[in-house]
Amino acid sequence: MRQVYINGEFKREDEAKVSIFDRSLLFADSVYEVTSVIEGKLIDFNNHMKRLDRSMTELKFKKLLNHEEILTFHRKLLELNNIKEGLVYLQVTRGVADRSFDMPKEQIQPTVFAFTQEKKLMDSPNAKNGIKIMTLDDLRWKRCDIKTTQLLYPSLAKTEATEKGFDDAWFIRQGYIMEGSSNNAWIVKGKIIKTRQSDQLILAGITRDAVMNCAKELGYEVVYKNFSLQEAQSADEAFITSATSFVTPVIKINTSQIGEGKPGKFVTALRAEYIKQAIKNSI
Ligand code: PMP
Repeated sequence: MRQVYINGEFKREDEAKVSIFDRSLLFADSVYEVTSVIEGKLIDFNNHMKRLDRSMTELKFKKLLNHEEILTFHRKLLELNNIKEGLVYLQVTRGVADRSFDMPKEQIQPTVFAFTQEKKLMDSPNAKNGIKIMTLDDLRWKRCDIKTTQLLYPSLAKTEATEKGFDDAWFIRQGYIMEGSSNNAWIVKGKIIKTRQSDQLILAGITRDAVMNCAKELGYEVVYKNFSLQEAQSADEAFITSATSFVTPVIKINTSQIGEGKPGKFVTALRAEYIKQAIKNSI
């Protein structure tokens, strides 16, 4: 049975409980981070913690958490569950309060929990075969830069995509591709790689920053700029990035095949470079 972390304690997963009055349950008033694990070590942990602080600050949580303590329980979870490859999911909620739209004025104790998931990240079929994307209107709120657990629309979108034989959905707002249901979207044309500029309409991916450096090392120029569906469909290559998918090639967008309809040379090289750097910098 998996051991999970909740509010300072490690428990069997079936014994960890959250109050029905937790604001995460009633208002999706909570934030989260997912840190991947390779060879038993955490990838980009410090940057995930910086983004956690930012999400909590933007939502006016009254107190931030201590990163050292979070690192300690992440490592302990890996050890207890003997995880060599997979992820640690961390969620921080505003806490428990009687139901009211008006947030508690005094500081309340946040609920903090985390669990591990074992997952094959390096040898994934998606990386080998590439994925198919369908596009959908972006019906999310306009603060997608905050990593909240308000994930109903992305979940509906992913489900619609898989029901229709695709692997994921990319969201479109005002004619431009924003990002995927749980990943950043990229296209490649010649020696130029495009991903949308970061603002309040997308999440600034941690993997994205690391990948940008790898792309530069491979001699490509990264441009942060809006791109349209049409531009994406005529790209040489396309891919997604996220903590758990790393760099994953996109081989089809709606009815259009991308490139030769199989993972391209550049994306394949980029994924290898990213994994090499990620392992080197893991803690
Ligand atoms: N955009 C969205 C909407 C996401 O949910 C994610 C995954 N957390 C990303 C982008 C990629 O972020 P990261 O590289 O930090 O996993």
